[in-house]
Amino acid sequence: MKIAGYEKLSLQDFPNHISCIIFTQGCNMRCPFCQNSTLIPHNSNNLINEEEILSYLKARKNILNGLTISGGEPTLQSDLEDFIDKVKELGLKIKLDTNGLNTTILKNLIKKNKVDYVAMDIKNNINKYGQTSGVSNIIIQNILNSIELLKNSKIEHEFRTTIISEHHTLQDILEIIKLIGSSKYYLQNFKNSEYVLDKNLTSFTEEKLNLWNKILKDYPNVYIRGLEKE
Ligand code: SF4
Repeated sequence: MKIAGYEKLSLQDFPNHISCIIFTQGCNMRCPFCQNSTLIPHNSNNLINEEEILSYLKARKNILNGLTISGGEPTLQSDLEDFIDKVKELGLKIKLDTNGLNTTILKNLIKKNKVDYVAMDIKNNINKYGQTSGVSNIIIQNILNSIELLKNSKIEHEFRTTIISEHHTLQDILEIIKLIGSSKYYLQNFKNSEYVLDKNLTSFTEEKLNLWNKILKDYPNVYIRGLEKE
């Protein structure tokens, strides 16, 4: 596993779990709003030995009950399944964060009960996917297949979109809601930082978010992070 970093303890990331989060190196998208752009290249000189992570998890297994595998894109790691097995031997549950482009791997992990929770990013309305993922020739059918896979599976999951004022309209979000059916769906406002690839992007104003929150109240499965449902 190419692991570039880890957050030792999170109470929020993995629902109902106290988890550690690891970030894998390498991604097959180039989202202009990526907060983890140092994780996009497939190699890095600053990788953390897998054994260091496993011994941290072993030492904290009485406090932790989950591990989030985030990235980058974790499904690009050829030994992901073996690594999950080692973590599961410690009694921890697994949350996987994915961009949904590797449907075959996702399907295999779900079929073999290797993951307990999946959070999949939906970058935008299907018509705008190339632009918002930074991959003009993206295989959109894989994204659609991953959405179908998760929404029809019994596995706990959520879909989520980082909303950016230059990329998303309310209509885009309504189109995404049609795709995901009754699955949980979280919108999170974009935050600019030194790592973001396109420095000209901007977040939504509080006023606009409040307006969307009112309009989206008719969808009980849709939440804007940081705002109460009205
Ligand atoms: S999917 Fe996009 S946001 Fe996520 S790590 Fe890759 S480039 Fe960054």
